[in-house]
Amino acid sequence: SGGGHEYDVVVLGSGPGGYTAAFRAADLGLKVALVERYPSLGGVCLNVGCIPSKALLHTAAIIDEAAAMADHGVRFGDPDIDLERLREFKDGVVGKLTDGLGGMATRRGVEVVRGTGRFTGPNELTVGGGDEERVLDFAHAIIAAGSQSLELPGLPWGDPRLMDSTAALDLEDIPGRLLVIGGGIIGLEMACVYAALGSKVTVVELTPQLMPGADADLVRPLQQRIKSRYENIYLETRVTGVDIADDALVARFEGEKAPSSAEFDRVLVAVGRVPNGGNIGADAAGVEVDDKGFIAVDNRMRTNVPHIFAIGDIVGQPMLAHKATHEGKVAAEVCAGHKSAFDARAIPSVAYTDPEVAWVGVTETEAKAGGTAYGVGKFPWAASGRALGIGRGEGFTKLLFDEETGRIIGAGIVGPHAGDLVSECALAIEMGCEAADIGLTIHPHPTLSETVAFAAEVYEGTVTDLY
Ligand code: FAD
Repeated sequence: SGGGHEYDVVVLGSGPGGYTAAFRAADLGLKVALVERYPSLGGVCLNVGCIPSKALLHTAAIIDEAAAMADHGVRFGDPDIDLERLREFKDGVVGKLTDGLGGMATRRGVEVVRGTGRFTGPNELTVGGGDEERVLDFAHAIIAAGSQSLELPGLPWGDPRLMDSTAALDLEDIPGRLLVIGGGIIGLEMACVYAALGSKVTVVELTPQLMPGADADLVRPLQQRIKSRYENIYLETRVTGVDIADDALVARFEGEKAPSSAEFDRVLVAVGRVPNGGNIGADAAGVEVDDKGFIAVDNRMRTNVPHIFAIGDIVGQPMLAHKATHEGKVAAEVCAGHKSAFDARAIPSVAYTDPEVAWVGVTETEAKAGGTAYGVGKFPWAASGRALGIGRGEGFTKLLFDEETGRIIGAGIVGPHAGDLVSECALAIEMGCEAADIGLTIHPHPTLSETVAFAAEVYEGTVTDLY
């Protein structure tokens, strides 16, 4: 199918989008090259994103849980943290997965080409920076070059105490006082890790709410919990600068509740991510990139150049690994001549904080703004025996139903394991379930998953009088 080209498919970038696309294309019988500038495969997600952060968050959760056991009559001592061993554990997890990808590529005959790739023609990608420059001639290309942290301008980026998420995951030390700029998912996850390890954490967020994008009620139990554990949370506050003092970084704030400045040992900037569309030579292939660096695609993941596809963070929000992998499969299948399309009704978002915050489909804020006639079934975990048994009655499960069709359109869950629980809601949305479908499905007792069924029954009015 290569039509005389050296490769049927060249994939640029080996993150979750890229490796999934490359493997799927090879499984469909295509000749594939996978180009990556970094020594290990797996992109942001495996190397400096989802995976290392979750390894550290597990440690953080155990530290907090061990401390909470005092309320159950069991006292552990203060944690004795061997940072080097913790780093080794995290790096070991990453290494197992990235090495695994190498093996999977080899077994499928996917050729991994090391170096930085840029288009030098509509059917040509030139890879340099590795051992030698190579020109790959392709019938199809899949751009999966991902994104990188947005560096706030004007900050002293040369100072190693000023960190992006990658540096924060390196866990160089446990700073006495840590400032986290940005109260989104990534900032709050790292705040959670450092707070558990013993840092005094301050979080600054520009908007009136932590985790903008999630419903305010969903974020409240998290905010309640961290309010007493963190040094400060400043909402509606802007960081106007960071200055280098003798032995500290001095951040300047603009906001009603914040002081004009404060000293920190380290500062993490987590204010968003920018796509890598600007530096791949897209022009040479005629691929349009917008001024932010995003590449527009249709539902078959095709760019404006029909034989060149784009997937993952580089095509837009939500910038999530599970979106990238699904898009990667579609792109590979279309390259192989299948009539595939990306047609997700809902893409779940999860903050793996403590408690976890997860949502999928339409949020209540969006339903209100869109004028949708909707109804809510909300089940407080204070009425769940299992939640009380783990000492976490603050959570809740909320389902949103379209009043006209009776079908579930959205869900939000806050509490431990919310990220695992929300998958059932995503399935329900994809299947077009009504409340009775969920409520009549027998869930095991006593589990947190029951709260999904109970929330559906609350909506139906078959469960009332919860307290
Ligand atoms: P990426 O993973 O960004 O990979 C792109 C790859 O392309 C990189 O390896 C890069 O080196 C390579 N590349 C780029 N340009 C070139 C070039 N010119 N030549 C050669 N190679 C190139 N998402 C979740 O779903 N769940 C999470 O829990 C989660 N946690 C996160 C935590 C952190 C700290 C961060 C930063 C992100 C997290 N994300 C999470 C987001 C997730 O990592 C991304 O959505 C995902 O990695 C995007 O995949 P991708 O395939 O689009 O690109």
